[in-house]
Amino acid sequence: MAKDPLASYRAKRDFEQTPEPGATVAGAEPGEQPRFVVQEHHARALHWDLRLEHDGVLWSWAVPKGIPMRNRPNHLAVRTEDHPLKYLDFEADIPAGQYGAGTMRIWDAGTYEAEKLRDDEVIVTFHGERVHGKYALFRTGGTQWMLHRMSPPDDPTRTAVPTDLAPMLAVAADPPRDDDGWVYEMKWDGMRALLAVEGGRMHVTSRSGADITGRFPELRGLGEAMGTTEAVLDGEIVALDASGRPSFERLQPRIHVASPAKARQLAASDPVVVMLFDVVWLEGHSTAALPYRDRRALLERLALAGPHWQTPPAREGSCEALLRAAAELGLEGVVAKRADSPYLPGKRSDAWRKVKVSAAQELVVGGWLPGKGRLAGRLGSLLVGYHEAPGGALRYAGRVGSGINENTRAELEAALSTRRRPDSPFRDPPRLPDPVWVDPELVVEVAFHEWTTGGSLRAPRFRGIRDDKDARDIVREGP
Ligand code: MN
Repeated sequence: MAKDPLASYRAKRDFEQTPEPGATVAGAEPGEQPRFVVQEHHARALHWDLRLEHDGVLWSWAVPKGIPMRNRPNHLAVRTEDHPLKYLDFEADIPAGQYGAGTMRIWDAGTYEAEKLRDDEVIVTFHGERVHGKYALFRTGGTQWMLHRMSPPDDPTRTAVPTDLAPMLAVAADPPRDDDGWVYEMKWDGMRALLAVEGGRMHVTSRSGADITGRFPELRGLGEAMGTTEAVLDGEIVALDASGRPSFERLQPRIHVASPAKARQLAASDPVVVMLFDVVWLEGHSTAALPYRDRRALLERLALAGPHWQTPPAREGSCEALLRAAAELGLEGVVAKRADSPYLPGKRSDAWRKVKVSAAQELVVGGWLPGKGRLAGRLGSLLVGYHEAPGGALRYAGRVGSGINENTRAELEAALSTRRRPDSPFRDPPRLPDPVWVDPELVVEVAFHEWTTGGSLRAPRFRGIRDDKDARDIVREGP
C-alpha cells in the first residue's frame, strides 16, 4: 500500500466544488466489526460502488451490474481508488463537471467478516439489509476483478431475467357486451416491445423477438431508473406528433435504423415514449400466471414515469366512454382486458380485445327494426341517416344494432314511440323486412370503422342519444 492511500482520491477531486468528504485516513474503533457500503451511482454510466472498510480507508470497486444475487454469472468489478471512511454514509449529487458527477445514493450498508483480504483476492461475508452471504472478489488483470456470490441465493427459486418471452396478443373485436370484469387501456399506435431490465441495463425485444435495443437509445434511462429491480415489462413504443398524438408515420424512421450513430441522431430529433402496460416477470419470478389486475398493481407500484417512459392508466367503467375519450384524443381505440386473465406469452387471446375507433358522428334515426328471439317485438336495430345538406333530403346510412344495451334500448323505444309514421323518411329507403318508420328527429352518436364507397357505415356501433343537436343540421362529416 502507498504511503498516502488517499492521494489518488484527493488528486481526482476539487473539494471546493464537490460535496464529497475530504481525504482523511481514520483509525478504526477497536473491537468494531468492519463496515461496508454499496452506493448506487447514477454517473455517466450507472454502476454500484462496493466499499469495504480496511486499514482506515475504504477499498472500493465499481460494479456496473451491481451485486450478484445468484451464483452465476459473476459480475465485473473495477477496482477504484481507496475512499475515506466518511464515504460510508455519503449520499449526494456530485455537480456536473466534477469527477463522478451524478447522484450517489446508499443502496445497502452493514458489516462484514473477512476470510481473506489480499491485493488480488478478497473473501468476505456481508451482513447488510439487502446483501447477506459470502462473496469472493478476485482480480483477473489490472484493475479488473470479478465478483462472485459463494453462498446459495437467498431465494433459491429466483431465476434470471428471461430473454425469450413473446408478447401476448389481442384480437380485434367489438366492445365487450358487459363492462363488468373488464379493464380498459388506451390503444397506442406504435411498435410493440418487451423490455427486460437487469442490473440497470435494458434489453428491448420486438414482437418477433428481434433485439431492437440499439434503435431506441433514449430508453436506456428507464433501465437506469429501475436500479437493481429486475423485470420484464410490456409496452408500446410510440412517437408523438406536435399535438401529442401517436404518429405511426413519425415512428417509421426509428424502426428501420442501420447504425448506432443514426439511432442516436434520431433519438434526439424524433424521440419516442414507451407506454408501459404490463409486467410479465418481476424480481426473479414470472408474473404471467397472475390475473391482469394483480399484474397492473405490481406495475403501478414500480411508478415508472420519465421523459421517455410512461405508465398510462388502466380504467374500469364504460368502454363506450373510453372510446369517446380515445376519439377525442385522436387515438386509435382502446384495448379491453379481462381483469382476471393471465398473461399468455406469444398467444393471441380474446381476453385482450382491441376495439378501434376510426370515426364517429351524429346521425338521425329514421326508423328501426324489431329484434329476434329474446328481443322479438322490441327494438333490435336503428335505421339511421344524414341530410344531404342542412334541412335537405335524408339519406339512409345504415343499420345500427351493436352497442345498444338493455338501458339504452328502453330509452330509445320510449323516445321513438311517439314519433311513428307510416312512410319512410329516407329519400332512398332500404329494403328491409318489417321496418318501423319514425319522424327523423332523434339524433344518436354512432361510431364506425369507415364509410363504404356506397355511402353506408361499416361496422357501426351505437354510442348514445344526443339531445343537444338539431336533427335538421345532421350532415355527413369527413370523407
Ligand atoms: Mn462511482
